[in-house]
Amino acid sequence: MSSPLKIYEFYDLSSHNTMGVSAKARFFTEVNTVDAHRKALEFVQENELPVLILGGGSNILFVKDFPGLVIHQNSKGIELVAENDEQVEVTVAAGENWHQLVQFCVNKGWGGIENLSLIPGNVGAAPIQNIGAYGVELESVFSSLEALYIKTGEIRTFSKDECAFGYRDSIFKKELKGEVIIISVNLILQKNQQVQLSYKALSDYLEKNRINNPGIKEVSEAVIAIRQSKLPDPNEIGNTGSFFKNPVIPVSLFDDLKQKYPDIPAYPVSGEQVKVPAGWLIEKAGWKGKREGEVGMHAKQALVLVNYGKATGQDLWEFANKVKRSVHQQFDIDLTPEVNIIS
Ligand SMILES: Cc1cc2nc3c(=O)[nH]c(=O)nc-3n(C[C@H](O)[C@H](O)[C@H](O)COP(=O)(O)OP(=O)(O)OC[C@H]3O[C@@H](n4cnc5c(N)ncnc54)[C@H](O)[C@@H]3O)c2cc1C
Repeated sequence: MSSPLKIYEFYDLSSHNTMGVSAKARFFTEVNTVDAHRKALEFVQENELPVLILGGGSNILFVKDFPGLVIHQNSKGIELVAENDEQVEVTVAAGENWHQLVQFCVNKGWGGIENLSLIPGNVGAAPIQNIGAYGVELESVFSSLEALYIKTGEIRTFSKDECAFGYRDSIFKKELKGEVIIISVNLILQKNQQVQLSYKALSDYLEKNRINNPGIKEVSEAVIAIRQSKLPDPNEIGNTGSFFKNPVIPVSLFDDLKQKYPDIPAYPVSGEQVKVPAGWLIEKAGWKGKREGEVGMHAKQALVLVNYGKATGQDLWEFANKVKRSVHQQFDIDLTPEVNIIS
């Protein structure tokens, strides 16, 4: 017999978001089976509540309390579903911790996600923004996922094409935003991975440390070392990593800006567009390391909005908007948050 669902009321979410904001959920529950998901959704329908799925809370900003049911997705399991001489396919439950999955795969010799070491959060959230770092994005190893529709309870498989992955983007941030619960993700990993070293900070690190012919283990260790040296640890200082996306702008605007700021960096996206590092714009606008009360932009990484302790979601959001306005004023570029804003 299945056990009843435990539902908490006026639940404090401060330990469930890496920004450390003390927002409250009107209702909160933890689910780890499909049956429990369905019970949670019955509760939502009976009480006509909005619903929010929460993984590790490392890409979310609660600007205010959440008036409905927060479902903490906590299912576990890594299953090897197919294998040949070259590759493996694994099905991973949404509640598995992403970095632990990376380490598990690296230890098995399965390559493809080593560049994504130490990204906080859970596997179920990884497709939402097609997580990426050090020259690799989730989509390069993604095969499919299973998701449950919140309104109907129907379970469906989504192929890679159907997920419509883009830069920190997918269908789950657009048409299907808030519509489905991702239950598991299938990845295809390589037994003889050609490591991806195109990202300059990574190749520089390996060269400087005289690591020749690195394998997936060395790449993972290098990524961990680089990340630890420049990103604040959410256990010590509240943050959600990069707060804004790197804006993609027309080449014509970039050419104008280059006249005024000859050192402005950019990466080509297409013949007509380039991507400009948001951190550079924020730093140039004078916000790097700037602090106002309990909020600031981090001193080592201008793109990281930080909570020095007691900031409310409102404080953080107001500060982020101040930075956004200032960048717009100076460069005529609109920054958009990478983080999911709950307001
Ligand atoms: C220090 C730091 C560094 C970071 N570095 C990177 C980086 O290099 N690259 C990168 O891409 N990201 C990075 N991030 C952002 C974050 O780690 C990722 O976006 C991660 O995938 C979020 O996972 P989560 O479980 O914490 O998601 P949450 O914050 O819990 O949720 C994020 C969004 O996904 C939805 N969601 C979560 N789980 C599910 C589910 N099972 N079904 C449906 N919807 C769901 C939520 O409703 C929310 O909208 C960083 C964050 C921090 C704090």
